[in-house]
Amino acid sequence: MSIRPMVNRDSAYFWEGAALGELRIQRCNACGALRHPPGPACPGCGALDRGHLVASGLGTVFSYVVHRHPPIPGKELPLVIALIDLDEGVRMVGEVSGVEPEEMAIGMRLRVDFARVDDELTLPFWRRV
Ligand code: ZN
Repeated sequence: MSIRPMVNRDSAYFWEGAALGELRIQRCNACGALRHPPGPACPGCGALDRGHLVASGLGTVFSYVVHRHPPIPGKELPLVIALIDLDEGVRMVGEVSGVEPEEMAIGMRLRVDFARVDDELTLPFWRRV
């Protein structure tokens, strides 16, 4: 048992990409603006025509929290959750693995990795570069 993300029409491209080992960022097909989290319309130009690009998978810690309580089903605590500035210029929330809470630092470079949960779900997470 683990926490399952909401997969809907606006975010399906993201989870399909994760299953392939791709970190996808939504891109407006009209003006080229990148955005995350995904949505139906471009906040810049209002266009509904959207696609995505595959990110490099590299980013920098903008901020982070250490989750020690309450328990989360399927998760070992403490859990490090970071707000990550991707090199492409969008900000994403992600779980950081393999870094002790006291080692975490703003500005740390991270690289995405993927954990296959089951046939339908693969979750991105982040490791120190
Ligand atoms: Zn646009």
